Amino acid sequence: MTDRVKKVLIAGASITGPALAYWLHQYGFAVTLVEKSPALRLGGQNIDVNGPGRVVAQRMGILEAVKAANTTEAGTLWVDKANQVTASFPKESAAGLTQELEILRGDLVNILYEHTRRDVDYRFNDSISQLEQDEQEARVTFASGQTESYDLVIAADGIRSKTRELMFGDEPVFNYLGLVTSYLTVAKADTDTDWARWYTADESRMILLRPDNQGTTRASINFLLSEEDYNQLDPRNPKPILLEKLAGADWEAPRLAGEVAKSDDIYLDGVGQIKAPHWSKGRFAMVGDAAYCPAPITGKGCTLALVGAYILAGELSKHERYQDAFQSYEAFMRPYVESIQQFPPGLLKFTYPTTRLGVKVTNTVVGVIASKPVQKVISLFNSSNKDKEELIDGKPLPDYAH
Ligand SMILES: Cc1cc2nc3c(=O)[nH]c(=O)nc-3n(C[C@H](O)[C@H](O)[C@H](O)COP(=O)(O)OP(=O)(O)OC[C@H]3O[C@@H](n4cnc5c(N)ncnc54)[C@H](O)[C@@H]3O)c2cc1C
Repeated sequence: MTDRVKKVLIAGASITGPALAYWLHQYGFAVTLVEKSPALRLGGQNIDVNGPGRVVAQRMGILEAVKAANTTEAGTLWVDKANQVTASFPKESAAGLTQELEILRGDLVNILYEHTRRDVDYRFNDSISQLEQDEQEARVTFASGQTESYDLVIAADGIRSKTRELMFGDEPVFNYLGLVTSYLTVAKADTDTDWARWYTADESRMILLRPDNQGTTRASINFLLSEEDYNQLDPRNPKPILLEKLAGADWEAPRLAGEVAKSDDIYLDGVGQIKAPHWSKGRFAMVGDAAYCPAPITGKGCTLALVGAYILAGELSKHERYQDAFQSYEAFMRPYVESIQQFPPGLLKFTYPTTRLGVKVTNTVVGVIASKPVQKVISLFNSSNKDKEELIDGKPLPDYAH
């Protein structure tokens, strides 16, 4: 396709956008990346780069930088309200939260930016306000008032993508899962170690405290909320609901309430999945959370971002016609995404019990899962799949080296 499509505009400079820009530049495309924020957004907790995402990071040449930025989390402890450990999942255990490549989201965003900034035309503090297309080109009007033409426009601007709306209209794609999550950075306390601590409270509440590599602690406060109440929630005003949810939650909830009260950087939103009927329309396409957010509870958002960017760029480099490339990208990625978007029914109810008895049952079951015999069985199963890094839904990750 290299003769026909040259200029690509990407919206969103987080993980997907810069990863896509990297690969498109490798294949000879001229890439412009527009980011709405005035600077990179570096907030958020740990994310992990795993499975085929690790392979993509390696092929991009950023794996060593990702390893060097490891949060050094030793594993995850489940604790009760007296901070007694009810289950322990060391980093190397077969089932557990802590992965080999744990990295703060902001560190990964920075690594990707540093890896691409010399080759990509980054434009901060701007966004796309209008889009049109015909057989010759895509015409873009930016919020800044400028108008330009591109061969392709790709939305990589996250779960709440506005570019997606401009491309596809208001097709309903956000599926709320009944869970609200929040992230904030808090001062390190004596009880914080290099282990993450997972605490389940009654009334469907959960608190997760994780070490970082910056001398602070990353806190996440999560709770189930009905769709009706969620629709009344204002994510820009997170303190009242967080303080309400922390009240009477025991454990270190009073400490966190103090942190919430004084924080000026809390991220709060409903957890949902994006299930879009189409990922492309003519010269427009989307990738990453904008197209297929799997929800943070799957732990695969970052991997799907890296893999989707790799496949989309690779298919564009391979096909004469962009229409064929978009079709092929979707045919490859959609089954993989759908397999990840499915998680066991009842998982949220189990993880977020409503009663104190329910909390005890959950902690007991998790304790059994963490026990040595069960871990042994899980690792036997995992070892039979030890090549899964190379596989997407049974298919090998394509190699686009031309
Ligand atoms: C501030 C922040 C904190 C996060 N924290 C976590 C976390 O702790 N744990 C976790 O699992 N996931 C977190 N995520 C989501 C995580 O980054 C994604 O699930 C995943 O990595 C895929 O990334 P993405 O690049 O597709 O989308 P995102 O990471 O959501 O990035 C979208 C980018 O597009 C930009 N943008 C938005 N609208 C426009 C527009 N109209 N035009 C141009 N640019 C626009 C945003 O500023 C952002 O930089 C966070 C995302 C953000 C933005």
